[in-house]
Amino acid sequence: LRRNPGEEEFHQAAREVLETLGPLLAKRPEFLEAKVIERICEPERQLIFRVPWTDDSGQVHVNRGFRVEFNSALGPFKGGLRFHPSVNLGIVKFLGFEQIFKNALTGMSIGGGKGGSDFDPKGRSANEVMRFCQSFMTELYRHLGEHTDVPAGDIGVGGREIGYLFGQYRRITNRYEAGVLTGKGLGWGGSQVRTEATGYGSVLFIAEMLRVRGEDMDGHRVAVSGSGNVARHAIDKAHQLGATVITCSDSSGYVVDEKGIDLELLHQVKEVERGRVGDYVERRGGAARLVEQGSVWQVPCDVALPAATQNELTESDAVTLVRNGVTAVAEGANMPTTPEAVRVLREAGVAFGPGKAANAGGVATSALEMRQNASRESWSFERAEEQLAQIMRHIHTLCHDTAQRYDRPGDYVAGANIAGFEAVAEAVLAQGVI
Ligand code: NDP
Repeated sequence: LRRNPGEEEFHQAAREVLETLGPLLAKRPEFLEAKVIERICEPERQLIFRVPWTDDSGQVHVNRGFRVEFNSALGPFKGGLRFHPSVNLGIVKFLGFEQIFKNALTGMSIGGGKGGSDFDPKGRSANEVMRFCQSFMTELYRHLGEHTDVPAGDIGVGGREIGYLFGQYRRITNRYEAGVLTGKGLGWGGSQVRTEATGYGSVLFIAEMLRVRGEDMDGHRVAVSGSGNVARHAIDKAHQLGATVITCSDSSGYVVDEKGIDLELLHQVKEVERGRVGDYVERRGGAARLVEQGSVWQVPCDVALPAATQNELTESDAVTLVRNGVTAVAEGANMPTTPEAVRVLREAGVAFGPGKAANAGGVATSALEMRQNASRESWSFERAEEQLAQIMRHIHTLCHDTAQRYDRPGDYVAGANIAGFEAVAEAVLAQGVI
């Protein structure tokens, strides 16, 4: 970690994984002898590049682009692109590092990578976003390929941005290489359920955690943070399973809606109009209230699903959640729960699903999209959703059983880290010192 000064989020993610590997390394000393940990912690390649673009008034801007190609022992680098002003190398590395193990847990042939830019899409016109995406891809395209590196979306990168990025890739390369990006539109190589997959999958993961405790989602009060892609589809699936989601948020505050979030209205405000959660409250007609200060985790709930960003659920939030009787927490976002908060939840006996397991449904469905692109097929919604459900059950069982096998019953963090690391380490070892 001394090699990577200032990369706090990467340190946090690496420490969280390494701290749980003791029982595995005691059984598999060859991983230590062959320096597998050092090799997995060092990205295969890190790209940082200039992204110049022109706004609607003709002014020139310069942003920074990143792609960290972390590990390709299991398959082509795979992981999303994030456009947010907070993006820096440490954040991209933490996301890429998590992605290695998440992708391994899916059991599919995908390595780990992540990328993005400190570009802020908020308040930008569609034309500005398009010009930015074209400039970004003009550098990144040379590093991509369906067998090399396959990006997808993340914060600030949804279907619209993937469209602009794909268009520029196709134009530069003069090739219709559908499998080079995932999250594409349904009419041009996208997969059914990819948009819904991360949110749906994280709720399916919670349902599995509750099932082994003899419970289900029906009738539960659920608190969700965020109001983007993951949050909205988590709300949708939770409602389908009979729960009531009473919160959502964005960086301007959080909403409490005791009747249950009106998903159609939220979609209209956040996705179609690209507005703020305050607009939702205004149009909800008295059923909901907006809280501009404080934490969404103050709202009493049975199940909590952080789905906005890293380190948004702190130790004091965890104490409040436990005091209010929460029984399960699953990370829809990547690393939204601080290590201190995870400890509080675990010590209180709360079922805790870490992001690399609970939110793996998105990347798994991206791999299904690549599979459809390779075979030139398009599956029905039902077929893709059934595959997603199977994958989430598989990931849950793998994490649950691995934790048990290594004497950490109920510890999904240890189960996910050990199972994910072991799969990658086996491949790294088998492929020689490279
Ligand atoms: P979106 O851009 O669609 O939504 C992000 C949401 O989080 C918005 O409501 C946004 O509010 C809020 N948010 C983002 N950054 C901050 C911040 N610094 N402070 C407060 N609120 C913030 O992104 P996604 O829904 O795609 O991603 C959400 C999380 O899920 C991320 O951690 C991502 O890495 C993770 N994830 C996403 C996957 C996917 O398939 N999309 C797959 C696996 C994980 P505002 O609009 O105000 O910025």
